[in-house]
Amino acid sequence: MGLFDRLKQGLSKTRKNLVEKAEQLFYRRVVDEKLLNELEDLLIMADVGPRASADIISALKEKVKKGEIPDTVELKKALKDEIKKIIRDGSGINITADRPYVILTVGVNGTGKTTTIGKLAGRFANEGLKVILAAGDTFRAAAIEQLEIWAERSGVQIVKHKSGADPAAVAFDAVVSAKAKNADVVLVDTAGRLHTKINLMEELKKVKRVISRELPAAPHEVLLVVDATSGQNVIHQAKIFSEAVHITGIALTKLDGTARGGIVVAIKKELNIPVKLIGIGEAMDDLRDFNADEFVDALFE
Ligand code: GDP
Ligand code: MG
Repeated sequence: MGLFDRLKQGLSKTRKNLVEKAEQLFYRRVVDEKLLNELEDLLIMADVGPRASADIISALKEKVKKGEIPDTVELKKALKDEIKKIIRDGSGINITADRPYVILTVGVNGTGKTTTIGKLAGRFANEGLKVILAAGDTFRAAAIEQLEIWAERSGVQIVKHKSGADPAAVAFDAVVSAKAKNADVVLVDTAGRLHTKINLMEELKKVKRVISRELPAAPHEVLLVVDATSGQNVIHQAKIFSEAVHITGIALTKLDGTARGGIVVAIKKELNIPVKLIGIGEAMDDLRDFNADEFVDALFE
């Protein structure tokens, strides 16, 4: 299966919930106020979010008024365009020339931080880059073991301490080791328990501080990993983590598991943090650079 078809398959629940329902809605209808209001309900049900949905619908109403949307074929095209307009400047992960390039992942437990790091490690190793993983979720021994499995799978190095150790010390050792070994990329895993409690946020701040002290330009990327199946809660999580550490991008995982993939649009509208990666499954190549046009085309095609 080609990459685009795999993406379509990964988004199939949202396609069914949003696009197929929109098509049913459009069948033999004239484009009027009533139809557009019904479309707005569909957008909200797909987690596009109330503000983004309202913006999209008012832009469509404007076009209808100007006679630019004579029928539902044009309406579908215009809908795609409006969604693309909102999410357009999303981008993938780009490693700059600065070495080692450090990516710190943060997020609530179970969102897919460790898995995303594992998939990224595979991708970078494939590109011939020297990768070091930092087992910064020291809260549970199992979390360290999980990262070790990914390290083995991709043949990359891992820096780990015993469970219960200070995650900042693990991150520090990984950066020092990466400098000594001329590594290209350091991927730092972290714990995600109790995101509403102050101690995790303090821990993350410390991890970030220690990395920056050793390497002033780092971390180059602070990636917030969020689970698409948790809906609008994603927005809440992003706000909390943003207060502690400056988030440079979002990895939106488990899009394959939700009918409400419209959350991509809500994230852009509400947070203005670029979605850089999307997860559409558990396998190594189920992590994609986010591309707005491709995403919308895969949904609607
Ligand atoms: P962490 O607690 O944030 O480190 O989360 P994990 O990386 O341990 O992931 C939690 C679960 O989510 C694991 O079972 C992963 O396989 C699963 N997972 C992660 N990303 C995706 C994805 O894009 N799609 C699906 N279906 N499962 C995912
Ligand atoms: Mg983990």
